[in-house]
Amino acid sequence: MISGPSGVGKSTVIERLRERLPFHFSVSVTTRRPRKGEHDGVDYYFVSGIEFERLLEKGELLESAEYSGRSYGTPRGPVIARLERGEHVLLDIENLGAMQVKHNYPDAITIFLAPPSRQELERRLRSRGDTDEADIQARLEVAGWQEEMARVEFDHLVVNDEVGRVVDEIVRIIGNPSH
Ligand code: 5GP
Repeated sequence: MISGPSGVGKSTVIERLRERLPFHFSVSVTTRRPRKGEHDGVDYYFVSGIEFERLLEKGELLESAEYSGRSYGTPRGPVIARLERGEHVLLDIENLGAMQVKHNYPDAITIFLAPPSRQELERRLRSRGDTDEADIQARLEVAGWQEEMARVEFDHLVVNDEVGRVVDEIVRIIGNPSH
Protein backbone atom coordinates (compact mmCIF):
# COMPACT_ATOMS: atom_id res chain seq x y z
CA MET A 1 0.00 0.00 0.00
CA ILE A 2 1.22 3.46 -0.81
CA SER A 3 -0.20 6.38 1.13
CA GLY A 4 0.68 10.03 1.25
CA PRO A 5 -0.94 13.42 0.92
CA SER A 6 -2.58 14.17 -2.39
CA GLY A 7 -0.18 16.25 -4.47
CA VAL A 8 2.87 14.45 -3.12
CA GLY A 9 3.37 12.64 -6.42
CA LYS A 10 2.00 9.17 -5.71
CA SER A 11 0.58 8.72 -9.19
CA THR A 12 3.92 9.44 -10.87
CA VAL A 13 5.77 7.09 -8.53
CA ILE A 14 3.17 4.35 -9.08
CA GLU A 15 3.39 4.77 -12.85
CA ARG A 16 7.16 4.32 -12.69
CA LEU A 17 6.83 1.37 -10.31
CA ARG A 18 4.64 -0.38 -12.86
CA GLU A 19 7.62 -0.49 -15.21
CA ARG A 20 9.70 -2.22 -12.54
CA LEU A 21 7.36 -4.54 -10.66
CA PRO A 22 4.53 -6.84 -11.70
CA PHE A 23 1.44 -5.90 -9.70
CA HIS A 24 -2.24 -5.25 -10.07
CA PHE A 25 -3.21 -1.65 -9.33
CA SER A 26 -6.47 -1.51 -7.40
CA VAL A 27 -8.89 1.05 -8.86
CA SER A 28 -10.85 2.69 -6.04
CA VAL A 29 -14.39 4.01 -5.97
CA THR A 30 -14.89 7.63 -4.98
CA THR A 31 -17.68 10.16 -4.71
CA ARG A 32 -15.41 13.02 -5.79
CA ARG A 33 -15.60 14.41 -9.29
CA PRO A 34 -13.07 13.45 -11.97
CA ARG A 35 -10.18 15.86 -12.50
CA LYS A 36 -9.12 16.82 -15.98
CA GLY A 37 -7.59 13.84 -17.71
CA GLU A 38 -9.01 11.24 -15.32
CA HIS A 39 -11.09 8.41 -16.69
CA ASP A 40 -13.82 6.35 -15.07
CA GLY A 41 -12.63 2.80 -14.50
CA VAL A 42 -8.98 3.75 -14.95
CA ASP A 43 -8.13 6.31 -12.26
CA TYR A 44 -11.24 5.69 -10.17
CA TYR A 45 -14.76 4.43 -10.46
CA PHE A 46 -16.64 7.71 -10.00
CA VAL A 47 -19.90 6.99 -8.19
CA SER A 48 -22.72 8.89 -6.48
CA GLY A 49 -23.06 9.04 -2.70
CA ILE A 50 -26.01 6.66 -2.91
CA GLU A 51 -24.08 4.15 -4.98
CA PHE A 52 -21.16 4.34 -2.52
CA GLU A 53 -23.49 3.64 0.42
CA ARG A 54 -24.93 0.68 -1.44
CA LEU A 55 -21.46 -0.82 -2.00
CA LEU A 56 -20.61 -0.27 1.65
CA GLU A 57 -23.81 -1.89 2.90
CA LYS A 58 -23.34 -4.89 0.64
CA GLY A 59 -19.84 -5.41 2.06
CA GLU A 60 -18.26 -4.88 -1.32
CA LEU A 61 -15.53 -2.57 -0.03
CA LEU A 62 -12.36 -3.90 1.56
CA GLU A 63 -11.91 -0.61 3.39
CA SER A 64 -13.28 2.88 3.11
CA ALA A 65 -12.58 6.36 4.42
CA GLU A 66 -13.58 9.98 4.11
CA TYR A 67 -11.07 12.41 2.67
CA SER A 68 -11.68 16.12 2.14
CA GLY A 69 -15.41 15.54 2.56
CA ARG A 70 -15.55 12.79 -0.07
CA SER A 71 -15.80 9.02 0.27
CA TYR A 72 -13.17 6.61 -1.05
CA GLY A 73 -13.10 2.83 -0.96
CA THR A 74 -11.33 -0.24 -2.32
CA PRO A 75 -13.52 -2.75 -4.21
CA ARG A 76 -13.07 -6.06 -2.41
CA GLY A 77 -13.63 -8.57 -5.24
CA PRO A 78 -10.76 -7.70 -7.60
CA VAL A 79 -8.20 -7.50 -4.75
CA ILE A 80 -9.16 -10.87 -3.26
CA ALA A 81 -9.21 -12.53 -6.68
CA ARG A 82 -5.67 -11.29 -7.45
CA LEU A 83 -4.31 -12.29 -4.06
CA GLU A 84 -5.82 -15.75 -4.43
CA ARG A 85 -3.98 -16.07 -7.74
CA GLY A 86 -0.77 -15.23 -5.90
CA GLU A 87 -0.42 -11.81 -7.54
CA HIS A 88 0.75 -8.64 -5.84
CA VAL A 89 -1.76 -5.85 -5.43
CA LEU A 90 -0.93 -2.19 -4.97
CA LEU A 91 -3.34 0.17 -3.24
CA ASP A 92 -3.05 3.96 -3.35
CA ILE A 93 -5.07 4.81 -0.26
CA GLU A 94 -5.02 7.25 2.63
CA ASN A 95 -3.82 6.39 6.13
CA LEU A 96 -6.98 5.23 7.83
CA GLY A 97 -7.88 2.90 4.99
CA ALA A 98 -4.33 1.53 4.98
CA MET A 99 -4.65 0.79 8.70
CA GLN A 100 -7.92 -1.09 8.11
CA VAL A 101 -6.24 -3.25 5.46
CA LYS A 102 -3.14 -3.80 7.63
CA HIS A 103 -5.41 -4.97 10.43
CA ASN A 104 -6.98 -7.62 8.20
CA TYR A 105 -3.85 -8.45 6.20
CA PRO A 106 -0.87 -8.05 8.56
CA ASP A 107 1.57 -9.11 5.82
CA ALA A 108 0.60 -6.12 3.67
CA ILE A 109 3.34 -3.49 3.48
CA THR A 110 2.48 0.11 4.31
CA ILE A 111 4.61 2.80 2.68
CA PHE A 112 4.05 6.51 3.30
CA LEU A 113 5.30 8.89 0.62
CA ALA A 114 6.14 12.20 2.31
CA PRO A 115 6.81 15.56 0.63
CA PRO A 116 10.29 17.07 1.07
CA SER A 117 8.58 19.96 2.93
CA ARG A 118 5.14 21.47 3.53
CA GLN A 119 6.07 24.38 1.21
CA GLU A 120 6.89 21.96 -1.59
CA LEU A 121 3.59 20.13 -1.10
CA GLU A 122 1.69 23.43 -1.24
CA ARG A 123 3.52 24.37 -4.44
CA ARG A 124 2.68 21.01 -6.03
CA LEU A 125 -0.98 21.24 -5.05
CA ARG A 126 -1.26 24.74 -6.52
CA SER A 127 0.54 23.82 -9.71
CA ARG A 128 -2.23 21.33 -10.48
CA GLY A 129 -4.46 24.34 -11.02
CA ASP A 130 -7.68 22.38 -10.75
CA THR A 131 -8.20 22.26 -7.00
CA ASP A 132 -9.90 25.17 -5.24
CA GLU A 133 -8.33 27.14 -2.38
CA ALA A 134 -10.49 25.69 0.42
CA ASP A 135 -9.65 22.22 -0.82
CA ILE A 136 -5.91 23.01 -0.88
CA GLN A 137 -6.00 24.28 2.72
CA ALA A 138 -7.97 21.24 3.88
CA ARG A 139 -5.53 18.89 2.16
CA LEU A 140 -2.49 20.64 3.68
CA GLU A 141 -3.98 20.33 7.12
CA VAL A 142 -4.69 16.64 6.64
CA ALA A 143 -1.18 16.13 5.23
CA GLY A 144 0.35 17.22 8.55
CA TRP A 145 -1.38 14.69 10.77
CA GLN A 146 -1.12 11.96 8.15
CA GLU A 147 2.67 12.22 8.23
CA GLU A 148 2.78 12.26 12.03
CA MET A 149 0.59 9.18 12.15
CA ALA A 150 2.61 7.42 9.46
CA ARG A 151 5.84 7.94 11.41
CA VAL A 152 4.29 5.84 14.19
CA GLU A 153 2.06 3.36 12.39
CA PHE A 154 3.54 2.69 8.94
CA ASP A 155 6.21 0.19 7.98
CA HIS A 156 8.16 2.68 5.83
CA LEU A 157 8.32 6.42 5.22
CA VAL A 158 9.92 7.51 1.96
CA VAL A 159 10.58 11.18 1.15
CA ASN A 160 9.61 12.00 -2.43
CA ASP A 161 12.63 14.12 -3.31
CA GLU A 162 13.58 12.54 -6.62
CA VAL A 163 11.31 10.09 -8.40
CA GLY A 164 14.04 7.72 -9.64
CA ARG A 165 15.55 7.38 -6.18
CA VAL A 166 12.11 6.89 -4.61
CA VAL A 167 11.20 4.14 -7.06
CA ASP A 168 14.52 2.38 -6.35
CA GLU A 169 13.85 2.57 -2.63
CA ILE A 170 10.33 1.17 -2.95
CA VAL A 171 11.55 -1.64 -5.21
CA ARG A 172 14.11 -2.49 -2.53
CA ILE A 173 11.40 -2.42 0.16
CA ILE A 174 9.13 -4.74 -1.77
CA GLY A 175 12.17 -6.81 -2.56
CA ASN A 176 11.19 -8.02 -5.96
CA PRO A 177 12.96 -5.99 -8.67
CA SER A 178 12.38 -6.92 -12.30
CA HIS A 179 15.37 -7.18 -14.64
P1 5GP B 1 -7.35 12.17 -4.65
O1 5GP B 1 -8.72 12.75 -4.50
O2 5GP B 1 -6.29 13.25 -4.60
O3 5GP B 1 -7.23 11.28 -5.85
O4 5GP B 1 -7.10 11.22 -3.40
C1 5GP B 1 -7.26 11.71 -2.13
C2 5GP B 1 -6.78 10.67 -1.12
O5 5GP B 1 -7.63 9.53 -1.13
C3 5GP B 1 -5.38 10.16 -1.41
O6 5GP B 1 -4.67 10.15 -0.18
C4 5GP B 1 -5.61 8.76 -1.90
O7 5GP B 1 -4.50 7.91 -1.58
C5 5GP B 1 -6.83 8.38 -1.12
N1 5GP B 1 -7.57 7.26 -1.70
C6 5GP B 1 -7.75 6.95 -2.99
N2 5GP B 1 -8.46 5.85 -3.12
C7 5GP B 1 -8.73 5.40 -1.86
C8 5GP B 1 -9.42 4.27 -1.32
O8 5GP B 1 -9.94 3.42 -2.01
N3 5GP B 1 -9.49 4.18 0.02
C9 5GP B 1 -8.92 5.09 0.85
N4 5GP B 1 -9.02 4.88 2.15
N5 5GP B 1 -8.26 6.16 0.38
C10 5GP B 1 -8.17 6.32 -0.95
